[in-house]
Amino acid sequence: MTLLLKIIIGACGWLLGMAPALALALPVPLCATQSAETGADGRALGHLPYGQGAEADLLSAPPGFSIGGPCRLQRAAADDLIRLLQAADAVPGVAGTLRGVSCFRSIEYQRQVFCGQIGADKRFASAAERARVVAPPAFSEHATGYTLDFAIRPSPDCPDVDACIIWHPAGRWLLAHAREFGFELSFPAGNAQGVSWEPWHWRWVGTSPRAPGAAAARAVFARAAANYPAIPGLYLKPPRVVSTLPQPAFPLYFPRLPGM
Ligand SMILES: [Zn+2]
Repeated sequence: MTLLLKIIIGACGWLLGMAPALALALPVPLCATQSAETGADGRALGHLPYGQGAEADLLSAPPGFSIGGPCRLQRAAADDLIRLLQAADAVPGVAGTLRGVSCFRSIEYQRQVFCGQIGADKRFASAAERARVVAPPAFSEHATGYTLDFAIRPSPDCPDVDACIIWHPAGRWLLAHAREFGFELSFPAGNAQGVSWEPWHWRWVGTSPRAPGAAAARAVFARAAANYPAIPGLYLKPPRVVSTLPQPAFPLYFPRLPGM
């Protein structure tokens, strides 16, 4: 083998060895003028990557639940949402107040939502700022079809997708009981992902690993559950939360589920 050939083979091997590192450093295009680099764990601007769920598998939420557009979820999540709403309707002060402001969002629609408010004359100056409150396209749990944003109606004193939802009885009820229907809070206060606290944003993983559809959902969120656990969540022993709120209408406790 000639020296030149050895050099060529060696250079090719070095380049192949470098390929993963080079790939990690490549920026991901998000909007026409915005991109972001992904970290070693695949996150972009704090958010983990998610593929898009098959739209044929999605079911619509009950009539009247959705505000602002259709609310579609994976079948098992939609079934448990119906059970959750039925339970909520039996609680005075909560009954009839829970709505869905956003559920499944395609990656392309997420791009419109994310990019539409970035610019010199817009609410956010950069993708990094925008990502504090909305996930970039291809990095949103909403694309999976397992996640929804709850809203409250009527709610004259608290806008949608705002942490003030927990001051409403229905928001407090979700914190205490959504786990019983397989939903967990993706972005708890002070989460290590650096995403804002989102007490309105819940993802479905099933009440147990054996629940219909739960294995598929838990596989989708496995990396998130391992690195950034939901609180209250279904993978963790529920923490005891001591409320300092004045006259809490509902106790902030998280009952243990059978088999957990
Ligand atoms: Zn959300």
